[in-house]
Amino acid sequence: MANISKTDLIQLFEFPRKRILQSMEVTHCPHAVFYNHSDEQCITCHQGEECLWMNHNDELVSMEDKSIDDLKQQLLVAVDFVDSSLTPHHLSRRNCQCDNCVWLRKVQQTLQGELPKE
Ligand SMILES: [Zn+2]
Repeated sequence: MANISKTDLIQLFEFPRKRILQSMEVTHCPHAVFYNHSDEQCITCHQGEECLWMNHNDELVSMEDKSIDDLKQQLLVAVDFVDSSLTPHHLSRRNCQCDNCVWLRKVQQTLQGELPKE
């Protein structure tokens, strides 16, 4: 079994946190991106998924208390968000050095327990 440390996983949340927040139309949200389960506006909001993720993985949420599996699961959701926001141009370039691609590769390596030692 690959040896993945929680600290490594938690560090990887920094990028998608910023990224997802940037991609969201926060100004249109009447709740300042605090998901409210009982609010119909939230339930039908087109940004619902991103919003839920943000609320799950906010810096205020104690990431240390989550299990490795939980963190991995949430990271994979973030990978989907970032991945789907990239144009095919990025994906076809194996060594693209933009922040998105660098982060995606890092997540992959970390999840595989193959983070290169520098
Ligand atoms: Zn790229």
